[in-house]
Amino acid sequence: MRSQTRRFVDDEVVPHADAWERSGSVPREVLRRMGSIGFFGLRVPEEYGGVGMGPLASCVFAEELGRSTFGGFTATVIVHTDLAMPYLRIFGSDDQKRRWLPGLISGEIISAIAVTEPDAGSDVAAIRTAARRDGDGFVIEGSKLYITNGVHGDLVFVAARTDPEVKSSRGISIFAVPRDTDGLTVSRALDKLGWRSSDTAELSFQDCWVPEDHLIGERDGGFYHVMHNFQNERLVLGAAAIGEAAKAIELTLEYVRGRRAFGEPLWSKQAVRQRLAMRLAEVDAGRQLLYHAAWLQEQGEDAVREVSEVKAYVGELVNRVLYDCVQFHGGMGYMAESPIERMFRDARIHSIGGGATEVMLEEIAKRM
Ligand SMILES: Cc1cc2nc3c(=O)[nH]c(=O)nc-3n(C[C@H](O)[C@H](O)[C@H](O)COP(=O)(O)OP(=O)(O)OC[C@H]3O[C@@H](n4cnc5c(N)ncnc54)[C@H](O)[C@@H]3O)c2cc1C
Repeated sequence: MRSQTRRFVDDEVVPHADAWERSGSVPREVLRRMGSIGFFGLRVPEEYGGVGMGPLASCVFAEELGRSTFGGFTATVIVHTDLAMPYLRIFGSDDQKRRWLPGLISGEIISAIAVTEPDAGSDVAAIRTAARRDGDGFVIEGSKLYITNGVHGDLVFVAARTDPEVKSSRGISIFAVPRDTDGLTVSRALDKLGWRSSDTAELSFQDCWVPEDHLIGERDGGFYHVMHNFQNERLVLGAAAIGEAAKAIELTLEYVRGRRAFGEPLWSKQAVRQRLAMRLAEVDAGRQLLYHAAWLQEQGEDAVREVSEVKAYVGELVNRVLYDCVQFHGGMGYMAESPIERMFRDARIHSIGGGATEVMLEEIAKRM
């Protein structure tokens, strides 16, 4: 699976992805092609048309996508396969799975997950988007911010408050909302520092009615579904970051071996090669922590501490690595024509999105 993903990335992503960075999204033909190869069904049980693999497979997949050097492409794909789709795969009813999974696996339907709001990011329990009972369905009102695949995606899993009486974490539910549902609009396509080939939206829900059978999982149990899925999300984001960091070191090694200064290759400078050696050691350590946490998850063990360690450690590490890689590329590292420049910008989100470093450290500290 690793070599198949790497071949796809080398042949069908890297030669074209500069254009996607400029257009701001990954073409649907590319996503359909990934679906046809089977990449989107890695975690889906065989009875629903997938191959039924576990968290380690998701990590290897994300790591290889990360090596593409195009974080926006990686985000587009893993948000679909590992951040959004699990809501249906894990908590959906048999009917819901049969309705949506085939399209999600083939790439005909691209999914998004909408939890974050203008006034609630790290603090998920503070969301205010509401879903009020209306006949045999629910009316959703509110707005969601920074939603990956929110502009071009087709099915959005939305966290909304179904019980206004109870405070914080209780009273939240998840709804599957097709993008063409009346009342769901993209209020803004957001411009951003990195991940430029990934589309990011602000979504508005006004009088947005969905039938009862679009409720995913337990009514009022949505907060716990989000917390459950965060574990896979954080692992997979960590895996992408490991792929990016490892590839950045390889690119920098190639550069410093060829680039001469003061009569010799930069690689001859002990300060340069020792710094890169230390970063490589850290990336190798981070990868083993990642695989260990994924393996624990695969065994069904509680791995919240280890997963939080992965997200905290690797989210910071990839930024340290890219800082040094830009440094050793000199002026070239600052030029848009160099992949390192893009990777440096793309890396910044890893210590913020899907659980900021400080939030992860609190999760670890609670378990110390
Ligand atoms: C490009 C991009 C794509 C995204 N995609 C999605 C998506 O598809 N779906 C979705 O729902 N969300 C998405 N997000 C949202 C993302 O998960 C949030 O930005 C993230 O959870 C942080 O929330 P916030 O931005 O509201 O920051 P805040 O919660 O306001 O926090 C700001 C900063 O304060 C610090 N901080 C926060 N809490 C603590 C604490 N307890 N202790 C100490 N310091 C703390 C951290 O440094 C944090 O970065 C995306 C964001 C970006 C930028």
